[in-house]
Amino acid sequence: MPGPGADPAVSQWDAIRTRIARAARDSERDPATVALVAVSKTYGAESIAPVIAAGQRAFGENRVQEAQAKWPGLRATTPNIDLHLIGPLQTNKVRDAVALFDTIETLDRPKLAEALAAEIARGGRRPRLLVQVNTGAEPQKAGVLPEDADSFIARCRDLGLAIDGLMCIPPAAEQASPHFALLATIAARNGLATLSMGMSADFELAIQLGATHVRVGSAIFGARHDGP
Ligand SMILES: *Cc1c(COP(=O)(O)O)cnc(C)c1O
Repeated sequence: MPGPGADPAVSQWDAIRTRIARAARDSERDPATVALVAVSKTYGAESIAPVIAAGQRAFGENRVQEAQAKWPGLRATTPNIDLHLIGPLQTNKVRDAVALFDTIETLDRPKLAEALAAEIARGGRRPRLLVQVNTGAEPQKAGVLPEDADSFIARCRDLGLAIDGLMCIPPAAEQASPHFALLATIAARNGLATLSMGMSADFELAIQLGATHVRVGSAIFGARHDGP
């Protein structure tokens, strides 16, 4: 437990962990089955280091280049960091992403699946892979459409990719619960165990609906100034 005068992000991190455990127990789930991915995008190493020191190991970043600048240094002090890519991945960044990230949550199109399969076969690392589903079918948002998810997952498996689960970002202006429930349904019928869903505003609801990973940024590190 952080003492008085603790880093504000560490205090908030601790409060989020308490809320995650409570939400899990309220749904009769073991709190150990819900992982917190602390979303550190836009925050510098000096803001992240105290949260690592407090014991957090899983972090989310949305840009390959930003993560490349921050994480090798942070990892040098703590080897067992679990770094998640939660933003769109361009095919020309696949080599760098496979080298840096432990989980890529944003696999969302055949070209990217092919590039990842080629890079992994080339002898690169083998990050865990989640397919991003655009549950709200928003034109501006990444992710496969819900009706295309089954065939896309099958296509990935044909390419030799092991898919661990699914990720979604519900439309900001809608109730999140139907989107979380839809993601859980698609995962179940495809035999996928990992569900990355829920952010600062709705992670408790996501846990009720089966999230195994919640991605929480601003509720730990404070408001960002990077748009929506
Ligand atoms: C920024 C981001 C988050 C964290 O959002 P908060 O509302 O700050 O918790 C989660 N998931 C994705 C994909 C993000 O880009």
